[in-house]
Amino acid sequence: MRAEFPAFRLGKVLATSFTATLTERQGDPVERIPVPRRLVDWLAVSGLAVDSCTAAQLDLARELRESIHAAATAAALQEALPAAAVQVINDRSAQGRAAAVLTAEGERRWRLGSTSCVEDALSVIAADAISVIAGERDGKLALCASPTCRAAFFDTSQSRTRKWCDMNTCGNRQKKARFNANANANQRKNTGAAP
Ligand SMILES: [Zn+2]
Repeated sequence: MRAEFPAFRLGKVLATSFTATLTERQGDPVERIPVPRRLVDWLAVSGLAVDSCTAAQLDLARELRESIHAAATAAALQEALPAAAVQVINDRSAQGRAAAVLTAEGERRWRLGSTSCVEDALSVIAADAISVIAGERDGKLALCASPTCRAAFFDTSQSRTRKWCDMNTCGNRQKKARFNANANANQRKNTGAAP
């Protein structure tokens, strides 16, 4: 019965795809990994399959997620990185055992430690966040223009002018809102109704 849980919003960047497992942080937040099994599902579709997940490991994952969100938000605003968030990211990065491996087809995969545990997967996500926040990758951290979202996302567009974390959700909603506002304004004009 997977349908009972909110769908994932998967992006191309592992760290910000992970922070997007909680959306609408400034509105009505939607928790997309509400139970340990959903974290297992998310890790599987993100190339980090684990054997199992406990409630404590889910807590650890969420703590890392919010730390990445806090640090990435500060980086996007060019503010000082919050020390507590940096500590969590570094601890998670150091705790897991994961190795990058090359497939015969020339693709990079992650091989987790012998027990394929959540901590190993979190170390890969933490390291990804570090490379993004440290500015090592081609792109720029920015905040979603949707006032109920404000998610930190990694803009890899040529012009670095992307406004929304996700074109299909936040971007679309904003476009629709503007369209409706214009339609209402036109209707008022046509009917002569007071605004
Ligand atoms: Zn957004």
